[in-house]
Amino acid sequence: MFFNTKSLDEALDIVRGKFHPLEEAELVPTGEARGRVLAAPIHSPLDLPGFPRATMDGYAVRARDTFGASEGDPRKLRLAGEVRTGQPPDIYPSLAPGEARAIPTGGALPPGADAVVPVEDTELLDPETVLVFSPVAPGTNVMAPDEDLQAGQKLFEKGHRLRPQDLGALLGVGITQVSVMRRVRVGIISTGEELVPPEEEPGPGRIRDINSYTLKAQLEEAGAVPKLYGIVPDEADALLAKTRAALMESDVVLLSGGSSVGTRDLTMAVLAELGEVLVHGLRIKPGKPTILGSSDGKAIVGLPGNPVSAMVACEALVIPLLQRLLGERERPRRPIVLAEMAKHVPSAKGRLDFVRVKLVSGDRCLLAEPILAQSGAISSLAEADGLVIIPAESEGLEQGERVTVELW
Ligand code: AMP
Ligand code: MG
Repeated sequence: MFFNTKSLDEALDIVRGKFHPLEEAELVPTGEARGRVLAAPIHSPLDLPGFPRATMDGYAVRARDTFGASEGDPRKLRLAGEVRTGQPPDIYPSLAPGEARAIPTGGALPPGADAVVPVEDTELLDPETVLVFSPVAPGTNVMAPDEDLQAGQKLFEKGHRLRPQDLGALLGVGITQVSVMRRVRVGIISTGEELVPPEEEPGPGRIRDINSYTLKAQLEEAGAVPKLYGIVPDEADALLAKTRAALMESDVVLLSGGSSVGTRDLTMAVLAELGEVLVHGLRIKPGKPTILGSSDGKAIVGLPGNPVSAMVACEALVIPLLQRLLGERERPRRPIVLAEMAKHVPSAKGRLDFVRVKLVSGDRCLLAEPILAQSGAISSLAEADGLVIIPAESEGLEQGERVTVELW
């Protein structure tokens, strides 16, 4: 019998109550910090771009010199040289009234100028005269010195996971090192006497170990550092010894298989020996035989052996646990798309259902075709484009119902 079954929300509350951010930071080069979680908030040390900068190719002008310009009545300005990108603005004389200076996108606006007329609104009458066919207001086609970022402005909160664009903002203001949370170390143990390493030929009745590798890849995707501890047969002493060894080197230990209630399901026995059981049985499908326990403040998670169940339970429970340990701000983890269910899918009340779906294009929008297969069939997840989550209170999804699909 499962005791203590919990809804996913209840289990996540237990995670937040029992486990706390590791609070161990390290400095890393910003250029290599994608996917890392900030250990402290970051403010911009300076204004960006730091000087008024042209945003179009054209002519730097005094805006008032262009007022009233039109196709039929262009303003005539004296061409006073050319600005090049990368040159300081003060190597040129100040722009005098009635003058224009050629400027490329990104060039520093010369003193005296306050706008840029795009080249397509001008014509070079002769090498010294520019005709301007439409007026510009002050500031037009110019990025102000602090328009991108202001000195002192908050860039990111503590707990923010850095994305490629974030590295750009940090490096743009010269922050070349960032303090990030150290990565969470996760040990993975596969249990089951039927398992052989994937490179071996399984004998009759035996199968290759899938979970070590799917879990490892999921953890890598989440920014953790997984370590494989191999396959342990269903023997209590061996499993206990291996779990102890993994705990020494890890923040979290995952045991795949043996989390259910059979005579050979030993994860509960290991937890009884090493610490306390917090959850035995999650009201999710697939993934019900999931165990959460703790040993000296470290989390031990017993995941179901079924490869699909193990992946779903890892996504639902282990990834949020890792986010908790990193102090990461909560955010949607996977991209979602809107779709319409192609078929009715029934669901029992009282549990969260994760339905594997394939996306195909429909007349009005994407259609989500459910893949109804045994949770042991890894092909069903390999074939799926994503998952639709049916809430606990729902008795199923109707054909044509609008759903959100988490892309996997
Ligand atoms: P268990 O949770 O140990 O009862 O295992 C449930 C099912 O998943 C059984 O059919 C196991 O053979 C299978 N299984 C367990 N561990 C793995 C694994 N690492 N890779 C692939 N299948 C597994
Ligand atoms: Mg087993």
